[in-house]
Amino acid sequence: MQKGGPDGFDGVDGGDIVLLADPNMHTLMDFRYKRKYTAENGENGAGQMRRGKSGKELVIKMPVGTVVWDAADDRVLCDLHEAGQRRVLFSGGRGGWGNAHFATPTRQAPAFANPGQKREIRELRLTLKSIADVGLVGYPNVGKSSLLSVVTAARPKIANYHFTTLSPNLGICRRYGVDFILADIPGLIQGASEGAGLGFRFLQHVERTRMLLHVVDISGSEGRDPVEDFEQITDELAAYGGLAERPTIVAANKMDLPEAAENLERLRAHLAGTDIEVIPISAATGEGIDELMNAVIRMLPTLPETVVYEEEADEEETGGEPFTVTKEDGLYVVFGPLCDRLLAGTNFDSSDSAAWFHRSLRSRGVIDALRAAGAKEGDTVLFGDMEFDFVE
Ligand code: GDP
Ligand code: MG
Repeated sequence: MQKGGPDGFDGVDGGDIVLLADPNMHTLMDFRYKRKYTAENGENGAGQMRRGKSGKELVIKMPVGTVVWDAADDRVLCDLHEAGQRRVLFSGGRGGWGNAHFATPTRQAPAFANPGQKREIRELRLTLKSIADVGLVGYPNVGKSSLLSVVTAARPKIANYHFTTLSPNLGICRRYGVDFILADIPGLIQGASEGAGLGFRFLQHVERTRMLLHVVDISGSEGRDPVEDFEQITDELAAYGGLAERPTIVAANKMDLPEAAENLERLRAHLAGTDIEVIPISAATGEGIDELMNAVIRMLPTLPETVVYEEEADEEETGGEPFTVTKEDGLYVVFGPLCDRLLAGTNFDSSDSAAWFHRSLRSRGVIDALRAAGAKEGDTVLFGDMEFDFVE
């Protein structure tokens, strides 16, 4: 974003405040130190204007997976679940919003204030729940980060002490033309579900995975017992709620070390009668890695998609209806707060953003509603203040 020059003649309209899902950000740490954001007052920055708005845009970047809640009524304002996704929080063109104060990443209440004509305070709460297909869970030092670095291009820290990683490392694995995202979820220890060792925060990330790869140190190299470790972590997942039933494959890691073979038999006996598959691997030698990844590739298509939080409409604002479709003079007119929100949240110069717009039309039922109203391929649709050709 450009830094503002001299303030323009139009001091009334403030800029839009836009939230943007930035794939290069991984934590909400920034908001702990910088809590105040100011959208500049209207300057006639023609180059940056979209759809005739006079204010400048203030873009606040957040990590992909940030869920933004309105603290006042605990309503989900948006789930920035896709890289490049934008959400206009305040539209400056409609009256000028002022400052934005953010809370720390946990539960404190931040506020938005407007020193201009209108004055409104809005409090937000931010939570980060990363999105991944596969969550790597397991006791510290079992080799989660090592495995991630072997199967993806991610380069996490690997070290022989606990709590090396404080936020999940994500990596993309590509096999047979299929991509899936793995998240290394660190810090799970006994008591994690009650907050021990920041465990609760880590468990939030497990929530948005489709399946788990439970890594155990099958050699018991730290004097630990792999069967006990497996049970402890499973108990924590269960105590957090809803995570113990997540489809799981066990990666019995460190097969290159002594005592591994013996422990492997014990763990297999322990899990006999469950549908949990145990696959022996070594992140160090590469043994079993292909078998493991193949098992993941087989399981993923059988699983539901990751949870995405639906935006919860403010009933007062919408009167209950996010949009309406009417036919006027051969033109299909879509009208309502959803239109403003989607248009304001889309940068049509970016193909990612435009694709998001089209997906949203579909997922919000706009396409179906148009079809029900009789719209055919090539018909003209007026959506908010923009015209489109109807494409199914
Ligand atoms: P994490 O805490 O689960 O992420 O574990 P790390 O990936 O940081 O690994 C912990 C330690 O175990 C490191 O010293 C790794 O080099 C070592 N390690 C990881 N996988 C293997 C393996 O397959 N065999 C052996 N011998 N050591 C391993
Ligand atoms: Mg690690």
